[in-house]
Amino acid sequence: MANKDYYEILGVSKNADADEIKSAYRRLAKKYHPDLNKTPEAAEKFKEINEAYEVLGDDKKRANYDQYGSADGPQFGGGQGGAGFGDFFGGSGGFGGGFSDIFSDIFSAFGGGGSSRVQQRGEDINIAMKLSFEEAVFGVEKIISFNRVESCKKCNGTGAKNGKEYTTCSQCGGAGRVRYQQSTMFGTTIRESVCPKCGGTGKMIKEKCEECNGKGYKKVPAQVRVKVPAGIDDGQTIRMRGEGNAPVSKGVSGDLNIKISVAPHKIFKRVGTDLLFDLYVPFTTCLLGGKVEIPLTKGTTILEIKEGTQSGIVMRLKGKGVKVLNRDSYGDLLVTIKSEPPKTLNKKTKDLLKNIEENLTENDFPKFKEFKNKIKGL
Ligand SMILES: [Zn+2]
Ligand SMILES: [Zn+2]
Repeated sequence: MANKDYYEILGVSKNADADEIKSAYRRLAKKYHPDLNKTPEAAEKFKEINEAYEVLGDDKKRANYDQYGSADGPQFGGGQGGAGFGDFFGGSGGFGGGFSDIFSDIFSAFGGGGSSRVQQRGEDINIAMKLSFEEAVFGVEKIISFNRVESCKKCNGTGAKNGKEYTTCSQCGGAGRVRYQQSTMFGTTIRESVCPKCGGTGKMIKEKCEECNGKGYKKVPAQVRVKVPAGIDDGQTIRMRGEGNAPVSKGVSGDLNIKISVAPHKIFKRVGTDLLFDLYVPFTTCLLGGKVEIPLTKGTTILEIKEGTQSGIVMRLKGKGVKVLNRDSYGDLLVTIKSEPPKTLNKKTKDLLKNIEENLTENDFPKFKEFKNKIKGL
């Protein structure tokens, strides 16, 4: 998969915009659609075009493909266990849309119903997952429990008692689909649809499986191990391919979409991969300099504040922020220094400060002096 050149397949340049890609796809899909094109290579070509469009028609997948040569981006760890770790995409919407939209588009142009490909995919399941601040920063493995539609194990998905008590459908011969001729603007074409007699299963059940009441599928409790990668952020979604509901008849399972919410931290505010916080220090520390212990994502460090530090200045600690998702780099820690005056002054400190004030001149405060000069000119 990874070494196919999807741009070449769609005949567009690497810089093609979304509209160019969409129209190239539509043109080729019509040219090679198996209902319209009966040459031997059409089916394979059609498949290839769809594969290319599924990637290039989706901003996130296309970016991954451009960067890593794979729509899924870099792989996490072993990646075994079937459930391919999918994409991360922020916020709402985004996924799925483009592909099935354009599909129904094309099919409606043929005057037909929906596409069997779309129908034979199980439904997605959307669930929410709450993480602590640390779990999001360092990554975590969690087992989640939910209910999903699975093929009935007792009847092996047939819906028939013991998986045996059925016969092949007489109308479709077990294929689950029937063909018929249809006239369209492209001429007479052969169309396929779900067999009306067996509803697409290809079987006539003699005796129903009691477990699933003849349906062949059942909602059951499921547990899935989720590897949450370090650096995931509030509002992002983890997609686990094929971990959603099984389709009602033959086909592939939908996806499991896990929407992440992250609890706030006591001190840090997170903005992307940067961490921010305001550090209040005694005004004397700003004047005289000093050392202050500050928190990091793990442990603490000593921050050195130089003599004469202005309140409001931001100190950037490079690489002390949050890991960038899928990359071996980190954001920064940004500490805004805030000078804190004493809450109350006793007689002694007041006298000392007055003494200091008398020892300083206007020239010790160039910015204040500049401001006063500007005021005079008004
Ligand atoms: Zn069953
Ligand atoms: Zn049938």
